[in-house]
Amino acid sequence: MKRKKLEGKTALITGASRGIGRAITYAFAEEGANVCINYLRSEEAAETLANACRHFGVRALVIQGDVSKEKDTRGLVEQALREFGHLDVLVNNAGINTMSFVENMSVQMWDEMIASDLRSVFLCTRFVLPSMIQRRYGRIINVASQLGQKGAVEMAHYCAAKAGVIGFTRSLAREVGQYGITANCIAPGPIETDMLAAESEEWKKNKLAELPIPRFGSVKEVAPTAVLLAADPDGAIYTGQTPVSYTHLRAHETT
Ligand code: NAP
Repeated sequence: MKRKKLEGKTALITGASRGIGRAITYAFAEEGANVCINYLRSEEAAETLANACRHFGVRALVIQGDVSKEKDTRGLVEQALREFGHLDVLVNNAGINTMSFVENMSVQMWDEMIASDLRSVFLCTRFVLPSMIQRRYGRIINVASQLGQKGAVEMAHYCAAKAGVIGFTRSLAREVGQYGITANCIAPGPIETDMLAAESEEWKKNKLAELPIPRFGSVKEVAPTAVLLAADPDGAIYTGQTPVSYTHLRAHETT
């Protein structure tokens, strides 16, 4: 029988109850990884996912926690390490979506975005890293967005957070490569999830017009990139990279 790509690995995925995080978690379990499923509010969805993962014969642990908060994040990582003994892979996926022009944006909206989408990436990485360094092994995968490179109207806070994630990841890759740890981003284009469903019809129409492939992506099209980056030897050589799962350029643009 063909060996599964993540057989015996352990992975912590933040914001795994829905959308892209859910798909990555399911794909990891299908490839043989034990998974730690973090969620914020969607307990039932997280438990349902855990049961689906267990059908692949792996361990699935569900941990509630707000990854924008230091105390929750420290506790989340400690519990995952206690239960699994170690973590091979960390996927920083959790994120939120709000929209406002900068001129109207409240300081609270800015702070919430930076905390959920950027501070969280630092916090989880910070608390997982010592154990990875000790084992001389680790894969850190941060879900950014191609908007972090492109920018977007009414999303300056989101784009700033995601650009921050990309800069953080590139720097981290330089620091931790010597310990056998890789750090990469995944930067999806618009993907069919609850986050996208919350956008207006007009927004979706305009967005589709920007895409060279005129459709929104599926979460199943993002998950294989995470599997690649987590797998040995497939992902071992990639670090500091930001694969853009599908681009945002108009079809006639060349750069
Ligand atoms: P989604 O369907 O809205 O799911 C968001 C997930 O994040 C949920 O599981 C949610 O948990 C969790 N979450 C949010 N805040 C959290 C917090 N503070 N602590 C812990 N968990 C938290 O979103 P998605 O579309 O899958 O997006 C996932 C990631 O991909 C995000 O980082 C997003 O920016 C990025 N992304 C998405 C797209 C897209 O078009 N969908 C494109 C590019 C990048 P609960 O359900 O338990 O509250």
